[in-house]
Amino acid sequence: MQNTEKLLSIKNLKKYFPIAKTSFFQKEQLYVRANEEITIDIQSGETFGLVGESGCGKSTLGRTLLQLYDQTAGSTLYYGRTLEEFAPSYVAETLQKAPKLIAAYKKLQEKAAAAAEECEKAGENATFFQHQTKNLLAAEAETAFQNVVKIMGGFASLDDCTEGAKVLLKKYKTNVKLSALNEQIRDLDGEIAFQEAIAKELKEDETVKKAEAKIGKALKKAESVRAKKEKLVSEVEQVKAALEADEKAVDDLKRKYADNEDFAKYEAMLDHGIDLSRLKYKEMRLLRKDIQIIFQDPYSSLNPRMTVGQIIGEGLTTHRFFKAGDPKMKEYIIKVMEQCGLQDYMLHRYPHQFSGGQRQRICIARALAVKPKFIVCDECVSALDVSIQSQIINLLEELKEKENLTYLFISHDLSVVRYISDRIGVMYLGNMVEMGTAEEVFSDPRHPYTVALLSSIPTTEVDAAKKERIILEGNIPSPIRPPEGCKFHTRCYMACDKCKVVPPPYVEVTPGHHVACHFLDKKVDENGDYLFELPGRTTEK
Ligand code: SF4
Repeated sequence: MQNTEKLLSIKNLKKYFPIAKTSFFQKEQLYVRANEEITIDIQSGETFGLVGESGCGKSTLGRTLLQLYDQTAGSTLYYGRTLEEFAPSYVAETLQKAPKLIAAYKKLQEKAAAAAEECEKAGENATFFQHQTKNLLAAEAETAFQNVVKIMGGFASLDDCTEGAKVLLKKYKTNVKLSALNEQIRDLDGEIAFQEAIAKELKEDETVKKAEAKIGKALKKAESVRAKKEKLVSEVEQVKAALEADEKAVDDLKRKYADNEDFAKYEAMLDHGIDLSRLKYKEMRLLRKDIQIIFQDPYSSLNPRMTVGQIIGEGLTTHRFFKAGDPKMKEYIIKVMEQCGLQDYMLHRYPHQFSGGQRQRICIARALAVKPKFIVCDECVSALDVSIQSQIINLLEELKEKENLTYLFISHDLSVVRYISDRIGVMYLGNMVEMGTAEEVFSDPRHPYTVALLSSIPTTEVDAAKKERIILEGNIPSPIRPPEGCKFHTRCYMACDKCKVVPPPYVEVTPGHHVACHFLDKKVDENGDYLFELPGRTTEK
């Protein structure tokens, strides 16, 4: 890990897929609960490995982070750009409708409390659907509360928040103006560079007719764009001064509530991360430049009708790195291809002309070309043979160092995950059951599921072969009606009666090492021997 700056913060993320009702009279809604209460902070420059059996929700989590799926509840905050710089529209909407939104979340909180009371009254007789309604309402109320408080801070605690919302909105609008001006200046810079590149190419190409006139035209255009840019630069200075005045107005108003405890409590919840789940489609498209994905299957994730050059160039023109036809774009694509171990003569070839490893390199080049900050590697080496796997992993490592990339590395191959990850999260049936540094998870696993997964890693070491392998019996239960209590109790070799009823809390056992189990003590010693008795039926020598 290179630094401890937070890049992504996922809080209480839930992803439920509703199941179509089978009859007109079916009242209750069933869901596939793919992700439940996921909370992770991913630091800039780290590789976060995500492991678990197939169907545990790893890939769904990766795709939900990218908002390829809408999340059901919770927040996914991105810190790669500031909220002020990106200026998403949901901020203005929240501030404009603040009193209504606060009333709405209070109503939701009441509903959630009533549902919880109903469940408590029913006690052991509470139905599956009563619990489901209670949990969904609680998550909805919390999400609605967080959506307001993260933007308004202390002002959300006041009975009358209109004045606070007004000054915050004014500041926000000035920020939007500043952000738009800066964006325009960046575009004009691009246009200047484009015209100058055309002029340079014309100078070098002696075969072009009337080159002098064309060069003059390109340079004249560059000059006029430069003048436009100068105008905008002076406008930026005025807007910056207005922004300073707006910031002062906000600070002055906040000072009035300096002694208000509730205000201070809410103010501490203020967050400047960009909530990906609240972005509009167009806004999310803009951020896709920063957040990329490499899919598992390099065969189906490339368009067979496009050449390598077109595949890599598509993102570059969409995200306005280059204008279509810019002579510099080809140069840049070749540079990225070389970085990913592809030769320049491959530029005009089609995906079917490549091997699996080369195709995966094309996918990596496509993701990398737009200079992302965060890449979800979704089982990106699983479809490749072992020698190609190591090439791709080394390439990912190398690029991470060079470009300061951050990865979410999803895989079911624990050896690969151990090699590449700084931290590891272990998922079971949609929940994170253990999370810690790669070293800690491997040397001191505390969750029985992690211990079983680690015991199943194939090895060629003679000593390790003598170690007892833990075989988990049965299949993963249905994510539609997961078991009550601890979801793992139906397959856990340490389960007790409590596990069948009480869900284990997610506890920090040592700094940064979290486990969700009722038995938090050490499970293996320094030599890797188990510190618990294995029931005979679950072991194999
Ligand atoms: S809480 Fe109980 S069932 Fe769940 S993992 Fe721990 S010991 Fe096993």
